[in-house]
Amino acid sequence: MILILKPNPDQAQISVLIRHIKEMGLSVNYSEGSRTTILGLLGDTSAISPADFEVYDIVERVQRVTEPFKQVNRKMHPDDTILEISGHKIGAGYFNVFAGPCSVESETQILEVAERVKQAGASFLRGGAFKPRTSPYSFQGLEAEGLKLLLEAKRQTGMPIVTEIMSEKHLDLFADVDIIQLGARNMQNFMLLKELGRSDKPILLKRGLSATMEEFLMAAEYIFAGGNTKVILCERGIRTFEKMIRNNLDISAIPLVKTLTHLPVIIDPSHAAGRRDMVQPLSRAAIAAGADGLIVEAHNNPACALCDGAQSLDLDMFDQMMQDVKRRVAFEGRQLQ
Ligand code: PEP
Ligand code: MN
Repeated sequence: MILILKPNPDQAQISVLIRHIKEMGLSVNYSEGSRTTILGLLGDTSAISPADFEVYDIVERVQRVTEPFKQVNRKMHPDDTILEISGHKIGAGYFNVFAGPCSVESETQILEVAERVKQAGASFLRGGAFKPRTSPYSFQGLEAEGLKLLLEAKRQTGMPIVTEIMSEKHLDLFADVDIIQLGARNMQNFMLLKELGRSDKPILLKRGLSATMEEFLMAAEYIFAGGNTKVILCERGIRTFEKMIRNNLDISAIPLVKTLTHLPVIIDPSHAAGRRDMVQPLSRAAIAAGADGLIVEAHNNPACALCDGAQSLDLDMFDQMMQDVKRRVAFEGRQLQ
């Protein structure tokens, strides 16, 4: 349930109202937007009547939020959320490109890729240290050593880093990571979601391989419910009957997420396509549909990559793609970070 307040509400009356709500055993999400102030009621409101609040002078209207996702719901927070992470704004017209290899493989590899993607205009360096692989016999990532190499690349280039977590037991290792990625395969790992909800790290939450939009947003709600409101959503393609491409990029997820939530949404064209020739066309579609950023796999030698070489751009291709991205982002009136 949300209470939409009249313009310029009296602060003393807001305090009285909030006290009343808390006495009912609920908690309150206060959102002062550009146009309206909204009090979101969190908890079981099924037995509560809108009339309980309509009697307050400062209350314009009471509305039930019927969707199961509450805190990430745009009804609770009509303005787009803008996150400020390591000197970069994300969301509401601030466009970011996250780029780097699928996996951190060696110091020379990650340093070369970091330098080049930075020069090309990426704002964050990506790279997996803990890798969720379908086969137990495939390269599993350099794990803690990979994190160290990423942090070294961050130190040398100044680029903030994003990398995937696979177990809450590793959280301490991620202390200096700028954004923690929760991968598609763990989107409904509820223990991990709860732990990330208790952390103060920004989370890049990827949509599960066959997750509905509601399941995706409920995963984000788990993180919010723990107190962490720094969430970026990532559409990375969903599984369909089509076998010629790795996944189907759900472009409609972008306007849908924007309508339903206030969170930034970025697109991963690399894991959607599974092949490098489609990364640029899908990126163009994402920019045109209103995405807040891209996460792209780029490698110094894709033919020898230990993971996802077929979908990785080489560094010249990435550079060329970024020139195109810059033009299109500017055309859409958004600002590359
Ligand atoms: C990745 O980003 O390397 C990755 C494994 O992505 P996803 O979880 O979307 O498959
Ligand atoms: Mn990958």
